[in-house]
Amino acid sequence: MSFNLQNLLRENIKNLTPYSSARDEFQGEASVFLDANENAYGSPLEDNFNRYPDPLQLAVKQKITSIKGVPPRNIFLGNGSDEAIDILFRSFCRPGIDNVILVPPTYGMYQVSANINDIEVQNIPLTIKYQLNMEGIAEAINPNTKLIFICSPNNPTGNSINREDVETLLANFTGIVVVDEAYINYSRQKSFIQELTEYGNLVVLQTLSKAWGLAGLRIGMAFASEEIIEVFNRVKPPYNINEASQKLALQALENVEQVNGWIKETLAERDKLVLGLKNLNFVLDIFPSDANFILVKTVSPREIYQFLVERGIIVRDRSKVELCEGCLRITVGTPAENNQLLTVLEGF
Ligand SMILES: *Cc1c(COP(=O)(O)O)cnc(C)c1O
Repeated sequence: MSFNLQNLLRENIKNLTPYSSARDEFQGEASVFLDANENAYGSPLEDNFNRYPDPLQLAVKQKITSIKGVPPRNIFLGNGSDEAIDILFRSFCRPGIDNVILVPPTYGMYQVSANINDIEVQNIPLTIKYQLNMEGIAEAINPNTKLIFICSPNNPTGNSINREDVETLLANFTGIVVVDEAYINYSRQKSFIQELTEYGNLVVLQTLSKAWGLAGLRIGMAFASEEIIEVFNRVKPPYNINEASQKLALQALENVEQVNGWIKETLAERDKLVLGLKNLNFVLDIFPSDANFILVKTVSPREIYQFLVERGIIVRDRSKVELCEGCLRITVGTPAENNQLLTVLEGF
């Protein structure tokens, strides 16, 4: 059996008539808009926000196209990647019937979104090398398996998933393979967005929340076939990206150079942090990272976490997570922050 989007979609989504907004119904030139019950006088702000935003965010998408080379028709923008994750469940998974495959330890939102949508999760843990258990995944797949979530570079382990394994899934799985590339800007690996023309069942997630420094704007990106993006656009709330976020994203996307500078600096700081941590006798292992954080195995994670909290430094305690026993996840900060962390840790 091969991939067929129509077979995969939920019946109610296939038959959905999307909400039609005032702006959808009119196309062309006009100067007087009395169609959307907006306040025509303006906003009590310097910038005007009295008009509804572009539901398809075309200006922002065109800017993304100029940076990533993916056409606007292959781009969906969500209120964070979290919206894209949720929309995958709502489009493809029948509550109480279908299932998805997760490969823990991984990003927590896939499980939460599955629970919210009442979708069964089959957990096929990564190997001890934090790679896919391909046999386990193959055995778990059944006719109701709709989605497989792969996070690469993976959160919280930091490593990239072997490309050939992801390609094997893309070529053989008749459901959707989601590749979450939230940390791709920090990685030596190639993005999967170049493979969109090759695989109709590929959805690549990226975000403006990490390297782009815009976590507060809430803009996540999904890249996929035109067919899939068309479904997402029908399922999403009509004005899911507000006008303030669209305006600011458009400005921010002009500053690729600054972002690339930060990425370089973050990678250099990550290397320095690794060297500094290696000198500490309570550090047992530091896992290789393709991201802007590192997973560090320690003798007493809980105590170190508490020690840092008491000194105003917060890291992520992942020591209770399967395959991450004893581990703290540490985000790379500014040079001053990283030095402060190392100095404080020397006193533990
Ligand atoms: C941080 C992160 C995201 C980003 O989520 P947003 O909702 O876009 O802020 C997505 N996936 C992973 C794996 C992450 O770690």
